[in-house]
This record gives sequence, structure tokens and C-alpha cells, in this order.
Amino acid sequence: MERFDVIIVGAGPAGIFSAYELVKSEKPLKILMLEKGRDIYKRRCPKHTNGGKCVHCKPCAITTGWAGAGAFSDGKLSLSHEVGGTLPELLGVEETMDLIKYTDDIYLKFGADSAVHGAEFSSEMNEIRRKSIDANLRLVHCPVRHLGTEKAQELYRKLFDHVVDKGVEVKFRTPVSELIIENNEIKGVKAKGEEFYADNVIVAVGREGSDWLLHQCDKEKISTDVGIVDIGVRVECRNEIMREVNENFYEAKLIHYTKTFDDKVRTFCSNPGGFVSSEYYEGDLAVVNGHSYKEKKSDNTNFALLVSQKFTEPFNAPIEYGKHIARLANMLTKNHVLVQRFGDLKRGRRTTKERLYRNNIMPTLKDAVPGDLSLVLPHRILVDIIEMIEALDGVTPGLASDETLLYGVEVKFYSNITRVGKDFQSESVNNLYLGGDGAGITRGLMQASANGVVMAREILKKY
Ligand SMILES: Cc1cc2nc3c(=O)[nH]c(=O)nc-3n(C[C@H](O)[C@H](O)[C@H](O)COP(=O)(O)OP(=O)(O)OC[C@H]3O[C@@H](n4cnc5c(N)ncnc54)[C@H](O)[C@@H]3O)c2cc1C
Repeated sequence: MERFDVIIVGAGPAGIFSAYELVKSEKPLKILMLEKGRDIYKRRCPKHTNGGKCVHCKPCAITTGWAGAGAFSDGKLSLSHEVGGTLPELLGVEETMDLIKYTDDIYLKFGADSAVHGAEFSSEMNEIRRKSIDANLRLVHCPVRHLGTEKAQELYRKLFDHVVDKGVEVKFRTPVSELIIENNEIKGVKAKGEEFYADNVIVAVGREGSDWLLHQCDKEKISTDVGIVDIGVRVECRNEIMREVNENFYEAKLIHYTKTFDDKVRTFCSNPGGFVSSEYYEGDLAVVNGHSYKEKKSDNTNFALLVSQKFTEPFNAPIEYGKHIARLANMLTKNHVLVQRFGDLKRGRRTTKERLYRNNIMPTLKDAVPGDLSLVLPHRILVDIIEMIEALDGVTPGLASDETLLYGVEVKFYSNITRVGKDFQSESVNNLYLGGDGAGITRGLMQASANGVVMAREILKKY
């Protein structure tokens, strides 16, 4: 039986930055990382070499392995506390901003581009804000550092070499199946029939592992709160439509409270010149996402529109709710992403291949199946999305045109939120640290990475 000072479950950005901060201290700690996916050198999505067809790898090469969902992500680092998670609620704005600065410097040290988009407000940006106000949209000020997918992989590869060089042991293809807890104290974990013991365990399993974590929380009576459900579509239009916003912001984060339901709808993860992609959960549940490359560009911009719903008692299954809707879409498309033109959605008819070819825009997701989102999304979400697109048309004229493509469904599997203290230790289990997207605490690369740093710092206080 091996014993460690710290076990980190999950090698996504949260896990990696925990490891980085632990080794930076130069304390003689024995650290083990257990990761369900492959190492960064072996991570390949077959889609990239077989004409874009997903072959349903288990586990998914896009969301698992070293750097987690971050490796194939667009690598946009949001440098504002207002974006990407709930760290400010736990740590306060000032401490969160200090952490973001610290974490951003690590990204720079490992090769991130020094350019930051949207740091200062130019007169053009002020004019976009004026139009946003006129359209009842709130423009969130969030400077962005863009790594690009290829650069992100290279950077996380360097971080892998660095932490391994500093003595961290990493086991790939090793999904943790159980937490070992005795008398409200974490003792270790079980993986592949083996037991690994440690004084501290960090669980940072991302969205991919959030179902598993929730199950562990239920079983071990680890306290959680019901999380939000974010469901919507990915919008794709030609770059010309978004040019002004893209040139000035790279990514403009806009929030709208809809007329009919007063629901919050936000833009998310914008990819100028990018590509729409499918992402698979549990092997074959297709949901949509998007990314962009530093060098390779398309004629289109894509971004998500997400409707945030906060349900109350007795609802207790935000992930299942999201999956249920995604399954409906998959039922119509034989497990592909569905695509519909905005004009067809408004007229209550499905998009066909023939209607798709009437467009100026060609879809970048080649295997998307033309269909009808109104057979999938609840009425309330559909109305929210239509009203949001119409509001956005005031800032980016042409977006509400018939040809704008809506891909469905985009769903963010935020887990129930694990109840943790300011130190990210579980309220119910001592020495168990819960962080990143899987714990429902973060929703993006920067806050997940920063969360990793704080968890490590809290553990280091004991040594
Ligand atoms: C296509 C795509 C594009 C994105 N683009 C951006 C972007 O541009 N900007 C941005 O800020 N965010 C982006 N995101 C989101 C971002 O990637 C995540 O917020 C971030 O990776 C979360 O980090 P994490 O460490 O919490 O979890 P993850 O990155 O999901 O990592 C968790 C790791 O835990 C592992 N794991 C899960 N369960 C277990 C288990 N039981 N045992 C062992 N290991 C386990 C998984 O295999 C995974 O490697 C994108 C996500 C996707 C999918």
C-alpha cells in the first residue's frame, strides 16, 4: 500500500495548477495524480484525421487526459473575476483578481501569447457598449488572453514535463472509482482495484467526472447545493456580421434578461474564424461546442447562447436535466449535433439540406444534421434564445437574419455545487479538497487553474 502526502484526482487545469503550486514550494511532498484519460503526448481526437467523424472514444479524447477539457479547448483565458466561476463569492473580488494575475503569469511563463484582447476601452468599444445599452444587453468587461488550441496543448505539455521533472507521479488511464472516507476524514482513493492512501486528496474531475463526484457525494453524505442548469445553442454566422465586435473585443460577453420570462441569457465562448465541434459524453451523447485555432481560420464566427436556470426544491438533478434534453436532440439525429437556420426556427419548420444550401454561410460542423430545435428545447428556453438573438441584432446587425445557424444543444453540465469553505475543503469531510468545474465551483480555464493554486496553498499551510 502506497502512501502520499497529496493525491490529485483529475489532471485538468485545476489539478495541474495544484500540482504546479505544490512543487513550486520545494517542500519534500509525495504527490500522486490519477487521471482517467491519456497523457498529453498520446491525446489525439480521431476526428481531426478522418474527415471530422467522431468514433466515440472511451473515454473521450477531447475531454479526458492531461489538461482535461483544456487541452483541446480554444484556450481563451478570461482575465476578469466576473467570468468563469464562483471564486469571487468564496474569496472576494480582490483576492480572486490577485489569484488570476498570479495564475496568468504562470501561463505566460509557460509560453502564452503576451497579447491581451479588450484590456482598454477604445471609442469603438464605447460605441458597442452604447448599442448594447440600447438593446437591453449588459456588456461585461473581460480582457481575454488567447492561447489557441495548438498553443494550449503545447503549453500544458510543458507543464506536464515540469511537474514530472519535479517528482510528481502521474498515472494515466486510471479512473478513480471510490473515495475512501473514515470518520469524516478522507483517507485515500480506490482506482483499478488498488487503494492509494494520502493525507490530503484534491478532487478536480471536471464536467467529465461531475456525475461520478455527485454519486460519491450522495453515497458518502458529502454536502452539496443544487447547481444551475445552462442550456442553449451554438450560434454560427459569417465573420462579416461579427466583425466590429470581434475586432474590438475578441470576445464580447453580453447578458440579456428576456422580455417574456425575465430569464438570464448570456453569450459564451466566442470563436471568431472558428469551428463548431461536437463533444461526446458517456460515449455517445453528442452536444455542441466550438473552438478556434491560432493559424487555421474559417469564414465564420461561432458562440454559445446559454439560458441559466436555477431550480429550487425538490429538483436535485441539474446534470440529468441537461442530458435529458441533449438525448432528445440525439434521438432525432442518431447521435449527431442538430443544426437549424434561425429563419426556419421562427417559422416553425425544420431545416433541410436544401434550405441549408440557400445560405451565404456554410456550416463548419460537417456532420451536423439539419433538423428542428423546437422539437427538442423546452418552449421557455426557445423563446429566451429567440429574444436574445433579436436583442443581439441591435449590436451586430444581421445576426437575426434567416440564415444564421443554431446548433443544438449546447449544455454545460455544472454539477451540484459541493459545499466547501474558503479553503475549498469539503464542509463534511476533512482534508478533502473539491475544486474546478466538477465541483461546480468554476466554469472556465482561468478560474479552474486559479482554484488549483488556492487548494495547493491551503494544503501547503500544513507543511
Ligand atoms: C471544447 C471546449 C472548449 C473550451 N474552451 C474554453 C475556453 O476557450 N476558455 C475557457 O476558459 N474554458 C474553455 N472550456 C472549458 C474549460 O476547458 C474548463 O472549464 C476547464 O478545463 C475546467 O478545468 P478542470 O480542471 O476543472 O476540469 P477538466 O479540464 O474537465 O479536467 C478534469 C479531468 O479529470 C479527469 N477525470 C474525471 N473523472 C475522473 C476520475 N474518476 N478519475 C480520474 N480522473 C478523472 C478527466 O479525464 C479530466 O482530464 C472549454 C471546454 C471545452 C470542452
